[in-house]
Amino acid sequence: MENNLLNIESKKEYFIQTFGCQMNEEDSEKLCGMLNRQGYVQTENKEDASIIIFNTCCVRENAENKVFGNVGDLKKLKKKNKDLIIAICGCMMQQKGMADKVLEMFPYVDIIFGTHNSYKFPEYLARVKQSGVQVKEILNKEDKIVEGIPIERKSNVKAFVTVMYGCNNFCTYCVVPYVRGRERSRKPEDIENEIKDLVAKGYKEITLLGQNVNSYGKGLEPHITFADLLRRINKIEGLERIRFMTSHPKDLTDELIYAIRDCDKLCEQIHLPVQSGSSRILKEMNRHYDRDQYLKLVRKIKKEIPNVSISTDIIIGFPGETEEDFNDTLSLVKEVEYDSAFTFIYSRRNNTPADKMENQIPEEIKHDRFNRLLEVTNEIIAKKNSTFEGKTVEVLVEGPSKNDPDKLMGRTRDGRLVNFTGKTENIGELVNVKITKAHAFSLIGEEI
Ligand code: SAH
Ligand code: SF4
Repeated sequence: MENNLLNIESKKEYFIQTFGCQMNEEDSEKLCGMLNRQGYVQTENKEDASIIIFNTCCVRENAENKVFGNVGDLKKLKKKNKDLIIAICGCMMQQKGMADKVLEMFPYVDIIFGTHNSYKFPEYLARVKQSGVQVKEILNKEDKIVEGIPIERKSNVKAFVTVMYGCNNFCTYCVVPYVRGRERSRKPEDIENEIKDLVAKGYKEITLLGQNVNSYGKGLEPHITFADLLRRINKIEGLERIRFMTSHPKDLTDELIYAIRDCDKLCEQIHLPVQSGSSRILKEMNRHYDRDQYLKLVRKIKKEIPNVSISTDIIIGFPGETEEDFNDTLSLVKEVEYDSAFTFIYSRRNNTPADKMENQIPEEIKHDRFNRLLEVTNEIIAKKNSTFEGKTVEVLVEGPSKNDPDKLMGRTRDGRLVNFTGKTENIGELVNVKITKAHAFSLIGEEI
């Protein structure tokens, strides 16, 4: 045992892989922060690591399958290095019976925890290191909101800041409310302090996160709405850009639209998942708005916020979706003209109402509709991007471009990716870029 301990202590590197949404990314940044405080450093190479963590997602089946594949692959590494500690956490572990299933399939996993107790990770790690005994702890109820966890952020230009946890909406296809619990909002002063601290460290842009940010503030005293919070954050000096996601169309208020219109730091960008263009399907999804209400909302947003960019999430092949329902989605996409769209094939999730619905759509029909939708969305997105050729845009420079090391990359206020020639000393700054060419999903330009 002592030998084992010595081995672990001498090799303090960890590998972490995150699946799923920005919330999981932010949770992982906290896990990294806690490990870094204990003297660990992150490695991109599993072979070098003494701790391997998978922060999982279960929103769709393919995310789950990737986790199974990855944990399965670790068997060889664990055989080579008995001291290796494998931890699995996140939404997938929070599903009923999943942690036991994972332990049965992969008995060499050392630590399993859920979404409500990730702040206890250092404690679990110490327990495994001291006793060598497997730790499995999943809380069924939301714990208190824990403030002050150190965060090791991926970027030093832009940061995610969670404003609320959980979801109360229970869309019939979705597991999030079951694995993330009920809505809980952070206190505005905690959020403000975190952002002020980020600004002091040089961060220029923040994205406020929540499954449904428009319900922010429920249960807080004194009363505060999300629009109030935005107006408060907009006053923070030195901060340049504020973004947020996700807005549920049923809760997006006029007050919020006016806050985006009026606050100079709020970027002209709204992520407004529609899920389907068919009122009948929207009802089955329990979305609490219909096609006309959604389109009316979009018209209002476009009228109040000139040049706003609107993005969305769409699910294809929800149970009972007919060709007519699908055509309603296509026509809605054409009418809204989204600036970007995340399209998903419906994935059956255990214990959700939609999983029990009859008329599940055969895979080949889902795929065919998905491809047809992709063609339409891509054409619209490319057309919108092409209008930027010759224009000058403000870009927050994030770092070197991923596909061309001679170029830099950053985003416009309305969220478009720009790869451009410019000065590396301007990383972290706002610069003006002249767009010389528009690709389907990005813009090319030169700093001026
Ligand atoms: N709270 C956010 C996002 C939740 S998950 C919202 O309500 O918009 C992100 C996206 O995953 C959803 O918007 C939805 O489009 C998609 N999604 C959720 N459950 C799904 C399922 N069972 N199958 C396919 N896509 C799903
Ligand atoms: Fe899931 Fe609906 Fe909640 Fe979004 S609003 S997380 S889709 S239940």
